[in-house]
Amino acid sequence: MNAIEFVQKAQNAEISVVEHTHKILEEIKKKNPAYNHFNLIAEDFAIKQAEELEKQIRQNPEKAKSLKLLGLPVSVKDCICVKGIESRSGSKILSGYKPVFDATVVAKAKEQGAIILGKTSQDEFGFGSFGTNTGIDFKKPKNPHDVSRACGGSSAGAGGFTALTEFSHIALGESTGGSIACPASFCGVVGLTPTYGRVSRYGLIDYANSLDKIGTIAKSTKEAALLLQIISGNDEKDATSLKNPAENYIENLSSPLKGMKIAVIREFFGKGIDSGASKACWSALKAAEKTLGVKYEEVSLPLNAKYAIPAYYLIAMAEASTNLAKYCGMRYGMEEELKGNFDEYFTSVRSKFFGEEAKRRIILGTFTRMAGFRDAYYLRAMKLRTLLIEEYAKLFKKFDLIVHPTMPVVAPKFDDIEKLTPLENYMMDICTMPANLAGLPHASIPVGKSRNMPVGLMLTASHLQEARLIRAANAIEGACG
Ligand code: GLN
Repeated sequence: MNAIEFVQKAQNAEISVVEHTHKILEEIKKKNPAYNHFNLIAEDFAIKQAEELEKQIRQNPEKAKSLKLLGLPVSVKDCICVKGIESRSGSKILSGYKPVFDATVVAKAKEQGAIILGKTSQDEFGFGSFGTNTGIDFKKPKNPHDVSRACGGSSAGAGGFTALTEFSHIALGESTGGSIACPASFCGVVGLTPTYGRVSRYGLIDYANSLDKIGTIAKSTKEAALLLQIISGNDEKDATSLKNPAENYIENLSSPLKGMKIAVIREFFGKGIDSGASKACWSALKAAEKTLGVKYEEVSLPLNAKYAIPAYYLIAMAEASTNLAKYCGMRYGMEEELKGNFDEYFTSVRSKFFGEEAKRRIILGTFTRMAGFRDAYYLRAMKLRTLLIEEYAKLFKKFDLIVHPTMPVVAPKFDDIEKLTPLENYMMDICTMPANLAGLPHASIPVGKSRNMPVGLMLTASHLQEARLIRAANAIEGACG
């Protein structure tokens, strides 16, 4: 039963919310030791929510009927704050941190009757593409299609669990440079990342403020859209939140795509891209042309293909190193016995509790912001970012949508990931990074398999064109069977 049917049944009192919550929790408890999709299972919290909802349904059935996520289990990426539930962003340094407030997205989901299941696993603070840069003492999430392979990162647990569960569920994920699209692609599910600013970041544990976006992961586009339309819209608590009111994406889902013009990005189909992944994406496009009447044309995005990765990593690391400065063992999470002067104390706490990739990014990010290097690196990357956005804008004058494979490879094996250098790791984001840097809404939908593993097709629309993006993703998903 998909999430939309589930909510309808719950609204008509045809299923028991408490029973369903128990069932999905049992499944998580049974399977999590083998898959590590959850950093924390909020069992008592979820059951209490379900019981309260059922009481509400009995007392005020009319009000309950109006709740758009009534009884639906929602998992929350660890970096998104849930009041009273340990929220660590996958890092040991935040052990014991229990937020005293809900992130706006969590508050909105709860208001509509969602049941929060727990916190899903991720690369520490979002620093990674496979879910394997986990913090100290965290376990690595495994891909349900093949446990010797990664889920993709950084919203790894969100993607993995969505693919694994047999019950109705939608995940809240977060993307800075591709962290929703990548695990969706590797796990064979749908990931929706909105325009930067479309969804409030209030209550998100920051990775890089000018890039972070909260979005959704589900088994189908329609389900992912259901949660996205609820969490989007202006929020006065987030100064970067856009004023545009939330839209209903599902209402116009079935209007035809005929005549829609699609740009196929040449650079992301050629050298360095898994040939099976390219093939699966081309078949999806041909099916869309035949059954939906869309038109496509091969075009180039040369500046983005060359410069998006260096520009992204400079900006993301600079912002990340600033954000991580507050974790000094005094206000949040782990602390030690106060010894030495501030610098000594600060250094000892951070050396002990940050993982390797976090340390690498603090060092690189701090370097690019230092006096004397700022102009050469950080400011130059910011200027480049504007040029890259302009390159997209030119394409969107002629086309409605841009497509290419989401990832250059299928989910890799853990053994192979270990052999990658940091630079090879960063290159994995070649296809997802451009749209993220430009703040453009994008979706990854499953379109087939290569080497027996799922392949994702990435669709990108112009700023605030989520409705068009979702309509196309849903129709192409259907056309692929
Ligand atoms: N892989 C990219 C990085 O490591 C993107 C991760 C993300 O979107 N959080 O920065």
